[in-house]
Amino acid sequence: MNTDVTKFDDKIYQIDVHMEGKPQRMSCYYIDTSDPILIEVGPSNSFPYLISALESLGIQDIKRTAITHLHLDHVGGIGHLNEKYKENFVYVHELGLKHLPNPERLWKAVSDVYTEEWLKKNWGEIKPISLENIKSLNDGADLKLDSNRNLKALYSPGHAKHHYTFYDEYSGTLFMGDTLGLIYPHGDFVQPNLPPPDFNKETLFQTLDSFENLEINQLAIAHFGVHKKPHQLISEAKESIDNWIMFINNIEHLSDDEASAELVKWLTKNYKSLNIDNETIKNYIGNGNFVMQINGIRNYLTKN
Ligand SMILES: [Zn+2]
Repeated sequence: MNTDVTKFDDKIYQIDVHMEGKPQRMSCYYIDTSDPILIEVGPSNSFPYLISALESLGIQDIKRTAITHLHLDHVGGIGHLNEKYKENFVYVHELGLKHLPNPERLWKAVSDVYTEEWLKKNWGEIKPISLENIKSLNDGADLKLDSNRNLKALYSPGHAKHHYTFYDEYSGTLFMGDTLGLIYPHGDFVQPNLPPPDFNKETLFQTLDSFENLEINQLAIAHFGVHKKPHQLISEAKESIDNWIMFINNIEHLSDDEASAELVKWLTKNYKSLNIDNETIKNYIGNGNFVMQINGIRNYLTKN
């Protein structure tokens, strides 16, 4: 078995697609029921990892893919996937109908933040897919997995306005995309992920609160992996987001770069005071784009 694939109960496979060439940065999922489905594709440069993981499971064809949202680290490889599996249908927020056949705007939005050069090197270019292969999601829609099992699409804005979360009631798994935040190797705590232009605290909290009504055993997040204690993680995420907003609000006189440096200093100090080991701190801090976080929070604060 390919070590980049981890099997969970109830036919759920987690696939590490080695985003930016690094392990444990981005997880895709595959539910191997009678009507199987892939959740997320990862960025273009990760496509070879995705395919080799699927092939190690004996999967020769993909017919359905569900995408949590239109950020390129989640959807960037979709054109590559549909080139290989021409029958693949992509389930995504309705904005996907407009952007996936003409991904220039998705590309520009991200390259404005990361620069085009960085994006090409680390995530790779997104290829278009045809409109006929896209199915837009509705809140509450059921995607059939088995005769007695559905994957429910739940509209979940706050991180992005085009975000869906997928709930598998049968296994109690919530495929959360970026709605919770980030949990990196060896850590068991959540670091917020609040990018511009859509991050909105009230909207995100409403989304997170709505999950409290579901019977959840585990959260399957994009960055990274499957985690138990879902309700504890959700309340922890909310607390951290509140703390971050307060912190950024108090340093409004600083430039974005200066504020980012302060945020990193403050986080490192907090993590150390919680007795988190240096390796874990390095993973959390090293994988963050903190200027983007500052932009996201400042954009939210200006609008409110
Ligand atoms: Zn995202």
